[in-house]
Amino acid sequence: MSDEASENGPEGEAHDDHPGVDHPGEEHGASLGKRLNWLRAGVLGANDGVVSTAGLVVGVAGATGNRGTLLTAGIAGLLAGSMSMAAGEYVSVSTQRDTERAALALERRELREQPEEELEELTELLQERGLDRSVALEAARQFTERDALRAHASVELGIDPDALTNPWHAAFASFLAFTVGALLPLAAIVLPPPAWRLPVTVVSVLVTLALTGWTSARMGAAPARAAIVRNAAGGALAMALTYATGSLLGAAGV
Ligand SMILES: [Zn+2]
Repeated sequence: MSDEASENGPEGEAHDDHPGVDHPGEEHGASLGKRLNWLRAGVLGANDGVVSTAGLVVGVAGATGNRGTLLTAGIAGLLAGSMSMAAGEYVSVSTQRDTERAALALERRELREQPEEELEELTELLQERGLDRSVALEAARQFTERDALRAHASVELGIDPDALTNPWHAAFASFLAFTVGALLPLAAIVLPPPAWRLPVTVVSVLVTLALTGWTSARMGAAPARAAIVRNAAGGALAMALTYATGSLLGAAGV
């Protein structure tokens, strides 16, 4: 995401008080991982938008050929789904950030009240990572001198205190990803002439799901074919189920 820079602060600025602990290589490694996480979440969110909206509009199309009804159902489904994703993401990221903040506060208090134990703890953690006792102790001393909280946050908790995820950013990203995905089946069901609606929707949805399945497999370095088949099969199943249900309800005159 492009707003990532604003979360981390302009490069270098966040570490001005202790330039000695700034390792540009590590920062880039961490932000690459973060960017991949955002990308993965975006692809999954778009995938959700495609499957859920495709199931919805194909189900309604099983019951009625009325374009206005299809459009209304599709837009309502798009908004409901993207809001639900955004709210869920907001809650989950807020909770995670609260947890991380509480852990940092506890760490800050421990550093203030029992600095000796905390130095020993950091030393042992560094030893577990493969340093000799004497080197670990010296490293722990230097870390503690420069920025004890940052060292404990990183080594003990795996947190960068300057880069906690913003729940609003996460919520907006989810909203956007779902909406982009949902627009495809929505357009495919309302734009073509009536006889073409279903075939165009089914084919474009399956092709898109194959693409998102392939993309997420590539990002996780997993076998692509299995991911494509699973992803497209999930969408096909959703559309078959809602179409059958919609057709039954339409035939029953509901
Ligand atoms: Zn600690």
